[in-house]
Amino acid sequence: MTDGRRIVEEAEVRLAPLSVDTNLAWWNSQVEATEENAERRERAEIAWSAALADRDQFAAVRAARENGASGDVRRRLDLLHDGMLRHQLPDALRERIVELETSVDLRYSRHRGVVGGREVADTEIKKILRRSDDPRERREAWEASKTVGAVVADDVRELARLRNEAARSLGHRDWFALSLATDELDEEKLVGTLAAADRATGEPFTRWKSALDERLAARFGCAVADLRPWHHADPFFQEAPPDGSVDLDPLFEGVDIVDLARRTIEGVGLEAEAIIARSDVYPRDGKNQHAFCIDIDRRGDVRVLANLDTTQESADTMLHELGHGVYDLGYRDDLPWLLRSTHLVATEASAILFGSLAWRREWLERVLGVSSSDGAALEPRLHAARAVELLVFTRWVLVMTTFERALYANPDGDLDTLWWELVSRYQRVTPPDERRAPDWAAKIHIAVSPVYYHTYLYGAIVALQLAAALESEAGGIVDRPDAGALLGERLFAPGQSIRWDRLVEDATGSPLSVAFLERAVAGA
Ligand SMILES: [Zn+2]
Repeated sequence: MTDGRRIVEEAEVRLAPLSVDTNLAWWNSQVEATEENAERRERAEIAWSAALADRDQFAAVRAARENGASGDVRRRLDLLHDGMLRHQLPDALRERIVELETSVDLRYSRHRGVVGGREVADTEIKKILRRSDDPRERREAWEASKTVGAVVADDVRELARLRNEAARSLGHRDWFALSLATDELDEEKLVGTLAAADRATGEPFTRWKSALDERLAARFGCAVADLRPWHHADPFFQEAPPDGSVDLDPLFEGVDIVDLARRTIEGVGLEAEAIIARSDVYPRDGKNQHAFCIDIDRRGDVRVLANLDTTQESADTMLHELGHGVYDLGYRDDLPWLLRSTHLVATEASAILFGSLAWRREWLERVLGVSSSDGAALEPRLHAARAVELLVFTRWVLVMTTFERALYANPDGDLDTLWWELVSRYQRVTPPDERRAPDWAAKIHIAVSPVYYHTYLYGAIVALQLAAALESEAGGIVDRPDAGALLGERLFAPGQSIRWDRLVEDATGSPLSVAFLERAVAGA
């Protein structure tokens, strides 16, 4: 057996059980945000991080790479190297980062904003911003959505400083640069892609946003110049607002979202039940208010956490998370542990592709049971709504990614001002008058999923590429087992045995290209 093969196999034997412990502890801390679960999670993460910090093993991995390992062994060594690099730190620094991340995350989970003298969940705040015609109530709800920012901001800055200290000790400029390098993403390419996405969406977004402002001003009886963030339909203006032309929520009233999602996944010949049976999908106190999918053991224990309501958005969310889940269940059986995972861009693409089905005529007709005449009437409006969704989302990713790059360039900068500069530049939203608050810190991703947001945009673009490929090769997606089989073979099965950018080319027929985004937003 070669040295390289022995090293990766030993690492897999050592890491696999620790990874299961960490994933389970994390899952438990999210379904039940107690101090006890947070402590357990912290202990598991420290053990996991200590294993990845093993200096002798890291040195052996480096040496084996330099000795010219090839094929699967080389790929596993590369992944091991990238996974271990950010843990090659003094123990005290490594542990301090884990502790602070855990403590900040717990505060996000437990915090509730106050509206009308009552603590409310994020979903309630969103409901007010979607439905209320009372600007005073809207403003109160919007401000309540930001109060968590002040609770965590100092520690989020401290986390950025600590992460930078770690990155610099490993020879990288800052945490932003280190994260990209170990995620197989090229910073120059990312900056170029974001600039191209800015150009592709700038003009259609401005046009659409002006029309939206006219409608909002009429609805709230004010001038366009008086519109502020709380006039938008969600706390960050990250989603397309319901504009009345396609309010599908009434179609979802009293509908079992889990059932729709199951039926969708099974319709393309993929497995949903094993995931659903292990999942936790309805809102509850003391539970993470967001949604995610987690592969606990890389051997079939895949779970979804969600907070489903009976809305189109909930259908999108559940399909999105199952889109991650079917990917995790789809790795080729003979892949070794290190390759039984996926690049963030590839798994987001699958998730976004499945989530977007809730916007497609074929899904509404076949799965939700909308009549074909209603479907035909809806189709052009669905298409436009989807285009708007992509526009709004792209502008939001531009805010997030530009902000994070600046945060790590200088965690001590005037971030409160920078945040609103970016929001006005990219989202064309007028900041509240004289507001001084760390509103950026109210976005949980900045604290607990650092340097991740750009993968959503990459994923959204790859999802468009996948949809185009499935359209031409399988005639569509809904109820087409051929589409599921193609995804399985080309996207899921290889796991991490192929670099993500090549996988995208193999699965969609072309490299990641903003041209797909440009085409998709043209109909907005
Ligand atoms: Zn996702």
